[in-house]
Amino acid sequence: MKLSNDDMDEEISIVEPVYAPWDGRRVPVTLLGGYLGAGKTTLINEMLARTDVPIAVMVNDVGDINVDAELIARQDGDTMDLTGGCVCCSLKNGFLEAFDQLRKRDIPPEHVVVELSGIANPASAAGFASTPGFMLDSIVTLVDLDQFLRWEDESSVVADAVRAQVISGDVIVFTKRDLVDEAQTTAVTERVKMLAPDATTVLADSVHSIAGLVNLGARRPVKDIGQGDSLFDQHQTSVIEIGGTISRAELDSLLDELPNETVRAKGIVQIETGEVLLVQVVGNRRNVEPLPMAETTNTTDLVVITVA
Ligand SMILES: [Zn+2]
Repeated sequence: MKLSNDDMDEEISIVEPVYAPWDGRRVPVTLLGGYLGAGKTTLINEMLARTDVPIAVMVNDVGDINVDAELIARQDGDTMDLTGGCVCCSLKNGFLEAFDQLRKRDIPPEHVVVELSGIANPASAAGFASTPGFMLDSIVTLVDLDQFLRWEDESSVVADAVRAQVISGDVIVFTKRDLVDEAQTTAVTERVKMLAPDATTVLADSVHSIAGLVNLGARRPVKDIGQGDSLFDQHQTSVIEIGGTISRAELDSLLDELPNETVRAKGIVQIETGEVLLVQVVGNRRNVEPLPMAETTNTTDLVVITVA
């Protein structure tokens, strides 16, 4: 079956099974949203570490290189990379195909967790999560306590993106608590509760908040599953090629020269000492640290996202 968008700029093909897979059982899907650098990958790893049930993880990165997928502690190879576009707008087809692949399995996963791209509007992805064999369980949105108010003061594109993510969240998880003081925590949580008064909110440093993410069940119905505006076009993704090993000084000067419009840069880089470093730039926060899983992780080029 083929469906077309109203504006005809993209054709979406949906493979409809003639019968419901898995005897009618529907696997719950959690959409994990949140702006660039809010800690989605970290949260997924903690979740995988705390559960024995088979969880399929889909990781969406708008760039061609999926740094986040490299950082997921793989469980039985059950991580699916979705690269080269955002699943809520330019990569809808790839998103549907990923569910098709899962649907072909004899035994379904217990749960599907989708790490949305940092610019995605979860409400726009929600309609694609409820396909035969699957049902949307909840939208979990991460809010970076350190950066959220700054993002809201940024260009309207960034402000719209972070607000849309909060408004569509059934559960809001506040992250980066260690980087802020009590006053900042209060300011951000109050602002978020104004935007999403019905959402359940949790501070991420409580064990309960992370362990409870799976099988939360939808806390409120996702009422308005619209297409949402595409935020993708206003973000530019580029790649700085790092051919093999570079020196730490070269890496630092490369990061110093990133354009002012950079909202995010990320990569896994090997320096001359042999050490493998995880490079993360989020707004005005730069973090370069040794990678704990270095021996099993491939290095990447540096993905840079700038806002127009
Ligand atoms: Zn999108």
